[in-house]
Amino acid sequence: MKNLFSLLAALGLLTGVAHAKLNVVATLPDFASLAEDIGGDKVKVISLTKGTEDPHFVDAKPSFIRVLNQADVLLEGGAELELGWLPPLVQNARNPRILPNAPGHIVLAHGLKLLEIPTQLDRSQGDVHAAGNPHFNLGPANFKPMAEIIAATFARLDPANAAYYAANLKRFSERLTDKLIEWEKLAAPLRGVKVITYHKSFEYLAATYGFNIVGQIEPKPGIEPTATHINALIPNAKAAGVKLVMMEPNRARKTPQFVADSIGAKLVICPILVGGSPEAKNCCDLIDCNLRALVKALQN
Ligand SMILES: [Zn+2]
Repeated sequence: MKNLFSLLAALGLLTGVAHAKLNVVATLPDFASLAEDIGGDKVKVISLTKGTEDPHFVDAKPSFIRVLNQADVLLEGGAELELGWLPPLVQNARNPRILPNAPGHIVLAHGLKLLEIPTQLDRSQGDVHAAGNPHFNLGPANFKPMAEIIAATFARLDPANAAYYAANLKRFSERLTDKLIEWEKLAAPLRGVKVITYHKSFEYLAATYGFNIVGQIEPKPGIEPTATHINALIPNAKAAGVKLVMMEPNRARKTPQFVADSIGAKLVICPILVGGSPEAKNCCDLIDCNLRALVKALQN
């Protein structure tokens, strides 16, 4: 009888979906990377966006609807990061498993402490980041809580493999602990360094490693630079002693290069998502890449 039970279970005849792989759809490659670390061979993971895209402005392809229709889990960042493109896709996918508030729809920001939550909502300050800064995938302190949320979700939806997910979470956390020590040493030269960034993409990295962001190339989040803004930014940056100008790989280089040249700073191209540069293969590599690029630029 026991053998018959095992056979039926192996064939997926007793528990249905529990023995099929969980279909996981992530909005960003960073969340997909964490889902793969935790889910291993028990999950099939697809990221809707590529690491070279701007996560605020994703080209929503019709194929996304089909992918979302098949999903058991949807991992999104939240905090308005995907507000411009994800909600209509979720509605059109007609999949009750991933509708807002369904057990399979996970908003990672809900389990994290976000930076820059405005005390009062003023849309004149730009059109995004009203729920706090959503670029928390560049904050190493967020990796463990995100991995924990993902592991808990997988265990709840696929209890037969709960021990497997827990073991992967433990392994991930141990590897992360080592990396955190390594990054602390690597980033030591960045402490107190003044930088300008293109968009408010690097606040979590700066808060973790102690460099100071004193201005942006964008006049407001999501707004392209204007001559008035740049003309005011340059003397301020010069006076502050800005050493580095950080920009995302997907942006036009001309204005940030001009600002860097005008103030005698180095322009550093920094991936903001997994896959944003060839070396940024997972969440930990993304931090590695950024810190190495910044330190190298500072020392050259
Ligand atoms: Zn943003």
